[in-house]
Amino acid sequence: MKVAKFGGSSVASAEQIRKVASIIEADSERKIVVVSAPGKRTSDDTKVTDLLIKLGETMIEKGAAEKELQAVIARYESIAQGLELGQEIVDTIAKDLQDRVAFDRSHTGKFMDQIKASGEDNNAKLIAAYFQSKGMNAEYVNPQEAGLFVSDEPGNAQVLPESYDHLNRLRERDGVLVFPGFFGYSPEGTLVTFPRGGSDITGSILAAGVDAELYENFTDVDSVFAANPNVVEQPAEIKKMTYREMRELSYAGFSVFHDEALIPAFRKSIPVCVKNTNNPQAPGTMIIAERDCFVNPVIGIASDSGFCTIFVRKYLMNREIGFGRKLLQIIEDEGISYEHIPSGIDDTSVILHEDQLDGEKELRIITRIKKELEVDDVYVERNFAMIMIVGEGMHNTVGIASRATSALSKAGVNIEMINQGSSEVSLVFGIHQQDADEAVRSLYAEFFGSKTGLE
Ligand code: ASP
Repeated sequence: MKVAKFGGSSVASAEQIRKVASIIEADSERKIVVVSAPGKRTSDDTKVTDLLIKLGETMIEKGAAEKELQAVIARYESIAQGLELGQEIVDTIAKDLQDRVAFDRSHTGKFMDQIKASGEDNNAKLIAAYFQSKGMNAEYVNPQEAGLFVSDEPGNAQVLPESYDHLNRLRERDGVLVFPGFFGYSPEGTLVTFPRGGSDITGSILAAGVDAELYENFTDVDSVFAANPNVVEQPAEIKKMTYREMRELSYAGFSVFHDEALIPAFRKSIPVCVKNTNNPQAPGTMIIAERDCFVNPVIGIASDSGFCTIFVRKYLMNREIGFGRKLLQIIEDEGISYEHIPSGIDDTSVILHEDQLDGEKELRIITRIKKELEVDDVYVERNFAMIMIVGEGMHNTVGIASRATSALSKAGVNIEMINQGSSEVSLVFGIHQQDADEAVRSLYAEFFGSKTGLE
């Protein structure tokens, strides 16, 4: 049995949903179909999830949002018409949305989750109706009825372990099951969503729950590329990569796949295949536990911007017991998470996403560090990018770091920070944001040259 997940662009219009149906009909092992909300039809279109966020926020602010509500209904209506489904399904969706906007708004997180999740939920109902209209044996499955239980953290759900046993029972059901991505229910019955992009997580949980032989993740590119195609011209296609490599690259800016989504599939050793809805014949990228790393020790180069660093210097910092703990405690007290802490003998930098640090927090943190840690110097620098070189073969290949640094130096990119992850699957360079694209291009040329595919 295979679990096939279709992302937003794969279910954005009637035309796309017809392709989904053909893909499912082409392989009888594709028994569980996980769907996103309708995504963008063109590059300047708006995803239904974003329309829904606007709808929810307007309701909270003004207590009414008729225009925003109609915009969402219109998207489903145009899909239903394109699929010749008739008015009934549109009325069901309109009624569902009207019920959701009338929900209790006193807890904004819970209210927003109700609204956001409708994107996937209604799309799953619509797609199931379309499959049935084509004579397919298919049905919509609700995550609560299937037992997909999650923690009660609005917008940030984590799957609860008992879900896997519940979901395993789906194996016994007949026909194709159409399952909405992006949300589950707390054991008390509250709807809770995963973080943005979370339909990938639903697919992975289901694949693990039903012990699928393969988790197929359908998107709109033929494969995962070794670098961002908007930065590097025609980057090589990755044919095979490991879970760890995909996780590191997704974390560092590859937007193909949600970085947390791999964990459930990985724990059960279920292979994942990223495929293209618009070209299902292409083999896609296989994500597996191990690969042969001799030929390509490096598999990809990612870049992510929007970082800042809190730089701290104190003479003999290395000898002061508890310094690191106290420093991180100050950051924790502000509810901030950090990404890296490269350190030297007398200095250390804490690197974090800069959107977490507004002016007031920055002032409080700097004041406390000065006062409580009696440092010689402390300051914040903004506008950093992190460039990450990823590859399982790096730890037993000599010279990767030196090749990378000399490529960057030839390109005139100043390296502010280097961090070799403890796992040695990745090497991170902190550089100024304005140099990020040049850095990626120079590293790409160094490690991949004119390669077109990475086996
Ligand atoms: N529709 C949600 C989002 O845009 C979840 C998903 O598509 O994975 O984030």
